[in-house]
Amino acid sequence: MSVRLTCIICPNGCELTVTEGENPTVEGNLCPKGVRFALDELTAPVRSFTGTVATAFKDVPVVSVKTDRDIPLQMMIPVARAAAALKLDRRLEVGETAFENIAGSGANLIITGEMKI
Ligand code: SF4
Repeated sequence: MSVRLTCIICPNGCELTVTEGENPTVEGNLCPKGVRFALDELTAPVRSFTGTVATAFKDVPVVSVKTDRDIPLQMMIPVARAAAALKLDRRLEVGETAFENIAGSGANLIITGEMKI
């Protein structure tokens, strides 16, 4: 049985065909990252989380955030819920950690937007 996937690692968006079995094969990738992506996608898919969190500041009521590493796809909803419950009461710099180990995912939530205007 084969599965078709689009690699999302880079803008090339290679169309991959994975033939499943004892030794799965991947075709259509322009680089080795596509093989890793396809095999991970079928066994343990991961993504980085991006979103916004509320702040206590009227001039910047929300700020964009992301996880500092990929997290298992099944952690997306718990992480999104934890991020939605946050309200930052301190102005942080881009790249600073807003919350460590968000929802027990092992990833830190970091600031990606300006809070200092
Ligand atoms: S296989 Fe390589 S070149 Fe193709 S989309 Fe994935 S990372 Fe980019």
